[in-house]
Amino acid sequence: MADFPTQARVVIIGGGIVGASTLYHLGKKGWTDCVLLEKNELTAGSTWHAAGNVPTFSTSWGIMNMQRYSTELYARLGEEVDYPMNYHQSGSIRLAHTKERMQEFERAKTMGRYQGIAMEIWTPEQAKEHYPFLEIHDLLGVLYDPTDGDIDPAQVTQALAKGARDMGQQVLRFTPATGVTQKPDDTWVVHTEKGDIACDYVVNAAGYYAQRVGEWFKPYGGRTVPMMVMEHQYLMTEQIPEIESWSKEHGGKLPLIRDVDVSYYLRQEKHGYNLGPYEPDCQAHWHDSSEAMPDDFSFQLWQENLDRIEGIVTDAMARVPLMQTSGISSVINGPIPYAPDGLPLIGPMPGVKNAFENCVFTFGIAQGGGAGKVMAEWIVDGAPEWDMWAVDPRRYTDYTDHDYCVKKGVEVYGNEYAMHFPHHEWPAARDKKLSPVHDRVKSLGGVMGAYNGWERANWFAQPGDDTSEQSTHTWGRSGPWEQRIREECEAVRDGVGVLDLPGFSRFEVKGDGAAETLRGLVTGSLPKVGRMNLVYIADGRGRILTEMSCMRQGQDEFVMITAASAQWHDRDILVSAMPDTVSVKDVTTTRDTLIVTGPKSRDLLAAMSDADLTTGWLTHQAATVAGQPAYLVRVSFAGELGWEVHALNDHMPAIYDAILEGGAKPFGMYALNSMRLEKGYRAWKGDLSTDYSLFEGGLDRFVKLDKPQNFPGKTALLAEKQQGVKKRFVTLVVDAGDADAPYMSTLWNRDDVVGETTSGGWGHRVNASIALGMVRADLAEPGTELEVEIYGERFKAVVQKDEPLWDPENARIKA
Ligand SMILES: Cc1cc2nc3c(=O)[nH]c(=O)nc-3n(C[C@H](O)[C@H](O)[C@H](O)COP(=O)(O)OP(=O)(O)OC[C@H]3O[C@@H](n4cnc5c(N)ncnc54)[C@H](O)[C@@H]3O)c2cc1C
Repeated sequence: MADFPTQARVVIIGGGIVGASTLYHLGKKGWTDCVLLEKNELTAGSTWHAAGNVPTFSTSWGIMNMQRYSTELYARLGEEVDYPMNYHQSGSIRLAHTKERMQEFERAKTMGRYQGIAMEIWTPEQAKEHYPFLEIHDLLGVLYDPTDGDIDPAQVTQALAKGARDMGQQVLRFTPATGVTQKPDDTWVVHTEKGDIACDYVVNAAGYYAQRVGEWFKPYGGRTVPMMVMEHQYLMTEQIPEIESWSKEHGGKLPLIRDVDVSYYLRQEKHGYNLGPYEPDCQAHWHDSSEAMPDDFSFQLWQENLDRIEGIVTDAMARVPLMQTSGISSVINGPIPYAPDGLPLIGPMPGVKNAFENCVFTFGIAQGGGAGKVMAEWIVDGAPEWDMWAVDPRRYTDYTDHDYCVKKGVEVYGNEYAMHFPHHEWPAARDKKLSPVHDRVKSLGGVMGAYNGWERANWFAQPGDDTSEQSTHTWGRSGPWEQRIREECEAVRDGVGVLDLPGFSRFEVKGDGAAETLRGLVTGSLPKVGRMNLVYIADGRGRILTEMSCMRQGQDEFVMITAASAQWHDRDILVSAMPDTVSVKDVTTTRDTLIVTGPKSRDLLAAMSDADLTTGWLTHQAATVAGQPAYLVRVSFAGELGWEVHALNDHMPAIYDAILEGGAKPFGMYALNSMRLEKGYRAWKGDLSTDYSLFEGGLDRFVKLDKPQNFPGKTALLAEKQQGVKKRFVTLVVDAGDADAPYMSTLWNRDDVVGETTSGGWGHRVNASIALGMVRADLAEPGTELEVEIYGERFKAVVQKDEPLWDPENARIKA
């Protein structure tokens, strides 16, 4: 074939909205020699039949950014690429039936306004003024989003493709990719039925086929793409004269309704309605041998099933009685892919060099515009503008087997609009990864939470405590856990506590050149042999990519320990940095860790260990504990005297039993979080993210600009040092009400938004509500009085000295 391209910078597999947007945005960044492969016609997957709603609502900052960007792009795209299209920004109203829902709306509204989206909270009566057909007797209020609306999904995809083609990009329709081969230099050959294309990067944008395409990458380090497929329906009604009259009079569409507590949206479609339910009694597809996924499902649908959604349809008809006057004209029932948390996979493909994922979109029309931008930035710049961990494929690791994905997909679909309360844990597909002392932790009353698949105790219930799911349906601090967390913190403060912490990500980095390579990777210094310290890795912009505890066991021998959720993220960073002479071994699953901490921890361990417990803070040593081989590390994230006890799984039960018998009180993750806030210790992907530079994050002492190595981000950090930071990390003490400040609560200085919190909670040792956050640099002076907006209410927040609230001299931890 004469015009068939044999070479491209990037090959994108999949021509739905997401693939087209990726191609368009790569072109916008100047990469105009890329190719998109589509096995059928553009939009043949999920895109052609989507309802086309384009909300911005999210309680995730990154996702809201991505969706907001989509609305801005779609508003200008037609003109920009000379492809007119139907995009109606009709606005939307979300209905609240409960106080908690109103609080959620308040939170989204503040985040939205921070991003420049003029969201408003309306009374039911105000909603009725804008939507005369709405029943409001049982509503508490609504969230109005003026930017919400709907777009024709096929038109926007074609517009993106046209814009891309006009820049020189190639779109090859009816050209299925059939496989990939990675060359020794880590570039790729993508095979198609029409020939091979050599390229630098590959993007899997294959929608609900993404798992199948993902299989091709397994020989090069890939894994099974964590996803499943649900069926999703919407129905259209016949035309309704009253709607036609309203539209004529008002010159537009009625706002889109989302009755999130009932779980549906209702949108004006021409002069009728489009109703889309997310029913709890939902249907997974292509998930077992009785129904294999077909080779090709292009432009196909499933048979409608109205029985399943009857209850929701009835509810909608009561909400908007006008609906009862019309019949159903058609039903669409199509495949929609789900990752286990309902969010897409956007970012580097775990374990595989030069391959990316932009797939498994449940709201791909709303997110497609932004997802193209994010992907192009990942490929061209090495990092997206905004921290996108919420959708990073590396947030999942090896526990996401088929059973997990199906159960989670069904759970998310049936709870599509559910609120994500801070003390709530979703129950489906649990117990994927268990600590060697899991049964003991449970029998002590452990109320468990999942951390990268690992079960850890959040708190320990006493007989009679309410541990029901229902009890967690609150944004507030209070609940059955509150008193127990206090007791756990007090035990650690006054005596000794023990926390079982399975799944601490752990890498052994060994071999000639390990130290020198690490020096060129991290921003600060490496510890001496026998010692440990925190190290940070920056991206090219000097922003915080990750934090690791670095234990040095020999000149070129290190153990790097990081957050459970960072396992594959940090593995890939280490593996790609190290030369062939250095091995990076992930030993996470072979060992367990106990945090043994509190002023009596030394006495407790002395009675059962041959370790030298006089060595200083940040030292480590091999020793026996309760007769078992172990490794003791003198640190405490709780900020008290303490040791981490690391041991192979088989040895841990005896150690745990002995420590309990020695008088340690078990404590959980909630208590640990409370205590680390009191120490100002940052948590990864809340306080530590690529939205902030190391200097903004107050990590100056971990940056050695005068070392000879040219570590990533050094140039940017040097420049920032000269110019000064725009924001600064601070600890705030908040005169909070019933709830502490969640992540991304807005900070106000009178009428100006001056920053945001990155985490918050109650400090039981200092008896105060604490928030960590980022403020405009000129407001970081201790004593500055600001306000923090928590679920719509503002509370006084005072900037604290740049030192821990608890034990500022670190006398206890160094005791
Ligand atoms: C009934 C319904 C209503 C929906 N309504 C909305 C809505 O209102 N708003 C919203 O945001 N989202 C909605 N969605 C979801 C939305 O449709 C999807 O999230 C979105 O279309 C995903 O786009 P995509 O580009 O990722 O995938 P797709 O559109 O599925 O595109 C993937 C493409 O990859 C191609 N492909 C696969 N394998 C290969 C290969 N080997 N070689 C070449 N090409 C390949 C496929 O043919 C396909 O065209 C709805 C979904 C359903 C089912």
